[in-house]
Amino acid sequence: MNTAKSERDLSLSRTTSCRNAMSVDVEDYFHAEALLRIRGDAGTTGVPLRFEASTNKVLDLFAARGVKATFFTLGWVAERAPGLVRRIVDEGHELAAHGYAHVRISEQSPEAFREDIRRAKHALEDASGAPVRGYRAPTFSIGAETRWAYPILVEEGFAWSSSVYPVHHDLYGMPGSPRTPYRPLNGADILEIPMSTVKVGGRIVQGGGGGYFRLLPYGLSSWLIRRVNTVEAQPFMFYFHPWEVDADQPRISDLSLKSRIRHYTNLSRMEARLERLMEDFSWGRVDDVFNVASSKHTGDAVVQKEDVL
Ligand SMILES: [Zn+2]
Repeated sequence: MNTAKSERDLSLSRTTSCRNAMSVDVEDYFHAEALLRIRGDAGTTGVPLRFEASTNKVLDLFAARGVKATFFTLGWVAERAPGLVRRIVDEGHELAAHGYAHVRISEQSPEAFREDIRRAKHALEDASGAPVRGYRAPTFSIGAETRWAYPILVEEGFAWSSSVYPVHHDLYGMPGSPRTPYRPLNGADILEIPMSTVKVGGRIVQGGGGGYFRLLPYGLSSWLIRRVNTVEAQPFMFYFHPWEVDADQPRISDLSLKSRIRHYTNLSRMEARLERLMEDFSWGRVDDVFNVASSKHTGDAVVQKEDVL
């Protein structure tokens, strides 16, 4: 069967009235877990930096469609390309932090974590002149063992986080945790907006965003997103990385089969898929879509802003 045609058929019942959150984790290709071992050589011979060109490409894609998004950006990026960070803010997107150096929280002491997020926030705010209130942990590394991160986030001036995947996964996850926005600390003003999951046949599965969007057929991803919007009446938290639209990035040899599949599959199809995604659904910044400033976030449920689009 013609793949493009079957993908199109699956997504015929297009838009839902729900507005979804578009987010981008701004890092370079070697910040991905699969390429961890080359990170130390970044910027030296054989490991060129490519984040600036790929992030500009993402910004161009959004500008062409009028889509506003949230950019979870490394402090490491802000120090190397302050102009890029300014462009993000100047074009109406939300700037948030993805830590400084993309080290999983589970590999940091509380002191090192505090230093990492403080350095990231300063670098992003210095470059942009805009306040940074949101945070996403590298590799969704807030889990059952790293909940100590929340009070530190509050103390360092963060108001919300999108760092938890409520699923089982080999690299991350907090299965059984809430699937809609909630306040993880009693009496502290911080909101966790977990990554979107979908209930299918009684099971909680991920899909629709991240690497799954690249690996699975478009029609399946859009079905999963639509299911969250319609069956669960929730906005979807979509995310991807600039390196996923950089099909010409250098191929690193000696990766495991799993890492090769995760990192390189369908890179050349990603841009066209994102264009379809922007056409098929309505998108906005995380702070707008999830109404993070609202005092109504008192329990597990989110009070969604009226969809005005
Ligand atoms: Zn990341």
